[in-house]
Amino acid sequence: MWIKATLSNIIKETDLTWKFVIKPESKFAFKPGQFVQIKINDLVRSYSIASYNSAIESFELLIVKLDGGKMTEHLFENAKAGDELEIKGPLGKFILPEEIEGDLLFICTGTGLAPFRSILQSIPLQNTSHKKIYLIFGTRTKNDILCQDEMNAYEKSIKDFKYIPVLSREKWDGETGYVHDQYLNLVKNNVLENPTFYLCGWRDMIKEARLNLKEQGFDSKKIKLEIYG
Ligand SMILES: Cc1cc2nc3c(=O)[nH]c(=O)nc-3n(C[C@H](O)[C@H](O)[C@H](O)COP(=O)(O)OP(=O)(O)OC[C@H]3O[C@@H](n4cnc5c(N)ncnc54)[C@H](O)[C@@H]3O)c2cc1C
Repeated sequence: MWIKATLSNIIKETDLTWKFVIKPESKFAFKPGQFVQIKINDLVRSYSIASYNSAIESFELLIVKLDGGKMTEHLFENAKAGDELEIKGPLGKFILPEEIEGDLLFICTGTGLAPFRSILQSIPLQNTSHKKIYLIFGTRTKNDILCQDEMNAYEKSIKDFKYIPVLSREKWDGETGYVHDQYLNLVKNNVLENPTFYLCGWRDMIKEARLNLKEQGFDSKKIKLEIYG
């Protein structure tokens, strides 16, 4: 069922990734990690819910502009606050289990951060009991890092949460290279206990990560995927 909604704000996060704040006309409940479909001028695309603000009953999407992409060009070039759209959802099973038994590894690149942002937001709010949580976030340069202050703040407010940003095209005082080296280091150094891996982003990164983890002996059931395309 499609629900009417308003695009209530557009916030530039980086040059190519913006936050789109959406206010549904009726009450909207979702599980952190889920996504919505949005429909504008009969064009339908899926986007992970990147955070929820209960005070204003709105959620945020974190969207990257793709050259030649129909929806993203519309959103970045024509859309404005106050526009109407339709949404369907929440959808998807990329969520935490009722009981978290082992460590969690969130692995993402670019806007693949979105579902993890709403999952992390929910952990202190819902007082979720958990073991260690790692977020490995890959992007190209320092200017492309998404929601860095928020992730740094979660390192302080969420017990046993470690944020590992990794840059593939710029040297800095943090980690460099690709996300793969980071989770493989954790696996090979035996620091993980009964881990479940959550992978989110574009197909190539996910395919490679899934293969690497299977090669390390992890069962498919312990590797959850959200593939953007
Ligand atoms: C479950 C799920 C959750 C998602 N969550 C997010 C999210 O949180 N954030 C996010 O940014 N994305 C997310 N996506 C991806 C999103 O749904 C869209 O696929 C993405 O925004 C591209 O849509 P588009 O209409 O702009 O591109 P499309 O028009 O669908 O084009 C897709 C690709 O084809 C290329 N292309 C299109 N037309 C041409 C052409 N004429 N010549 C050459 N190349 C062309 C585009 O450059 C682009 O790379 C998610 C996808 C799924 C399935």
